[in-house]
Amino acid sequence: MSKVPDVALNNGVTMPQLGFGVWQVPDDEAESAVATALDAGYRSIDTAALYANEEGTGRALAASGLPREELFVTTKLWNSDQGYDSALRAFDTSLGKLKLDYVDLYLIHWPQPRRDAYTETWRALERIAADGRARAIGVSNFQPAHLRRLVDGSPTVPAVNQIELHPQLAQSELRAVHAELGIATEAWSPLGQGKGLLESQVVARVAERHGRTPAQVVLRWHLQLGNVVIPKSVTPSRIRENIDVFDFALAPEDLAELAALDDGTRLGPDPDAFG
Ligand code: NAD
Repeated sequence: MSKVPDVALNNGVTMPQLGFGVWQVPDDEAESAVATALDAGYRSIDTAALYANEEGTGRALAASGLPREELFVTTKLWNSDQGYDSALRAFDTSLGKLKLDYVDLYLIHWPQPRRDAYTETWRALERIAADGRARAIGVSNFQPAHLRRLVDGSPTVPAVNQIELHPQLAQSELRAVHAELGIATEAWSPLGQGKGLLESQVVARVAERHGRTPAQVVLRWHLQLGNVVIPKSVTPSRIRENIDVFDFALAPEDLAELAALDDGTRLGPDPDAFG
């Protein structure tokens, strides 16, 4: 079974560099998908209040019999719950659905800059972390200006910023800001949602050279950049394929070829405008 390396976060907590995402997996399917992932060797699971599958995810975690300290569970605060008191309440709800005493990582899902509540929301996450109910706290979809504002106004630098990132949206500027501030980069839709990216000629060429699949090549690209990745699949063979990426490496010329795919394609909303 593949051994997934850990990434050290800025508060000393470590997180597996590759995990399993469950967006768009219905609650009644989440239990078997997460069980398959745990069986394949994944130990990090990425859910969110929005995904409405925290309960199914929690059932799979409990049924696995794995010690809690071997698991790394992330969930996220949904937009409508931003604000200090509402964030604390939303966190209690998520923890109850997951049937856990603590999560490993709690994220603000979107900055919603027009609403301008993320600094106040961040204070609630700091409180949750201080109470030992989240081992690390972070954000998602934050742009450089949002990160700088948070860091300027708070003693706690987010451990993670989970952002849309794949070879067609390589996010060089944000990755440089993360490196400067000590924030780990976590890539959502790392496979470009399985659409055009995995069918590209460039990816196919590199995959053929290594005798690997397009998905495996794209995941290697992330890992070699230093990104944390959370690919999603409900197909058992793909769940296994996506973690079987630790016994080969892309060469500098492979990485250069893949770099040419970066054309700014965004699959999700613009974080400056969303919410
Ligand atoms: P992804 O890039 O992981 O692509 C998933 C899709 O790719 C699958 O549905 C399947 O169609 C295809 N696929 C998966 N493995 C494959 C393989 N081996 N071969 C061929 N096709 C394959 O997309 P995603 O689900 O959008 O992102 C991953 C995770 O990121 C989500 O499940 C969620 O946990 C997280 N996420 C977070 C945010 C956010 O705002 N924070 C937004 C989107 C997703």
